[in-house]
Amino acid sequence: MTVNRADTAVPQHAPMDQFPIVDNCLQIGGEPVTDIAARAGTPFYAYDKAVISKTVHDLRAILPEHVNLHYAIKANPMPAVVEHTAGLVDGLDVASAGELALALSSGTDPACISFAGPGKSDDDLLAAVTANVIICMESASEMARISALATATGRRPRVAVRVNPEFELKLSGMRMGGSPKPFGIDAECVPDLLAQLGELPLEFMGFHIFSGSQNLRADAIIEAQTRTVELALQLAEAAPGPVRWLNIGGGLGVPYFPGEERLDLAPIASNLQSLLTKLRARMPGVEVVMELGRYLVAEAGIYVCQILDRKVSRGETFLIANGGLHHHLALSGNFGQVIRKNYPVCIGNRVQAVESEAVNVAGPLCTPLDVLATNMVLPKASPGDLLVVFQSGAYGYSASPRDFLGHPQPAQILL
Ligand SMILES: *Cc1c(COP(=O)(O)O)cnc(C)c1O
Repeated sequence: MTVNRADTAVPQHAPMDQFPIVDNCLQIGGEPVTDIAARAGTPFYAYDKAVISKTVHDLRAILPEHVNLHYAIKANPMPAVVEHTAGLVDGLDVASAGELALALSSGTDPACISFAGPGKSDDDLLAAVTANVIICMESASEMARISALATATGRRPRVAVRVNPEFELKLSGMRMGGSPKPFGIDAECVPDLLAQLGELPLEFMGFHIFSGSQNLRADAIIEAQTRTVELALQLAEAAPGPVRWLNIGGGLGVPYFPGEERLDLAPIASNLQSLLTKLRARMPGVEVVMELGRYLVAEAGIYVCQILDRKVSRGETFLIANGGLHHHLALSGNFGQVIRKNYPVCIGNRVQAVESEAVNVAGPLCTPLDVLATNMVLPKASPGDLLVVFQSGAYGYSASPRDFLGHPQPAQILL
């Protein structure tokens, strides 16, 4: 039996070393992907509990003790994943009444659940008020609606003000400076809103400041967190009561593409430690929350489909798979990418090649957008082989148009 790590076998992209390779077959949750495919059929998503647990454990080991970790359910709302992850973190972030129901059914204390989102319906708000979770208010009119619900139900909802800061989490060379957004309340308007809030039957908890996502640059994250804390300290002066809760957002990214590396958390953690010291001096007892979706679950998941056909078109080899854009929109490059790049993939049942070739991999849909890989060197594959897509635990299954063209739904398995 030979055991190798995927990073030696799959040189074209960021190292994928979270899953072992045994007898040249990728394993997840201790099981060969071929066995899972035989049992579940293809395509499927598989998520590894142990990888999620290790990610949370490693993060806690390096972050300051007093930072609470929340899981943003939208990254992967599979109930079994939510339940497993809820048991590892300090709270959950939800963005709809549906996600709220999921969060509550995981047994999480409502005081540790926060609800953000720019378009909350009256049903969403009533569910949040009834459950007594923290509602992150995104506009003055939303505050008025929550206040009306408070009066109607005789409750005193817990609220935080979601702030649209004048800075952004810098993404590789993107412009700085505040921009108009549908999320939160512009920082410069927050003091006036806080003055009104003091007159309403609402329990002021604090602030939610989320400045960006999927960032792999420690310096950019450090700068955003520093400015977030400065902004919170400044806004606190106008608050109707003590700031008890401060959600500083997340933004931690995971590597997907060639040349990307895992984030170096050490400098982020040490900066956060000094920010916490400063915060706690001015806001005694404040609960500081980091909310993470992708970072906690992306690396723990794979998407697996089967090669159905191989053909040559004008000199290029195409593998046609039974899965694609309809199950994994992000893989096709249509979920937040400007220029499509290949996700890390391998042939799961033949990870290391005897013979390699450059191929394009397409899915079964009748659209040129259904692309799984372009011009990638992979072990020579034939119908029946399994194409495995790494980094698929977040924004995969639930962020894809699964009814498009009426192909079967993929299974989801937590191992
Ligand atoms: C989507 C979202 C998150 C999670 O973002 P990730 O990039 O998955 O970590 C956290 N907070 C808010 C408010 C969000 O909208």
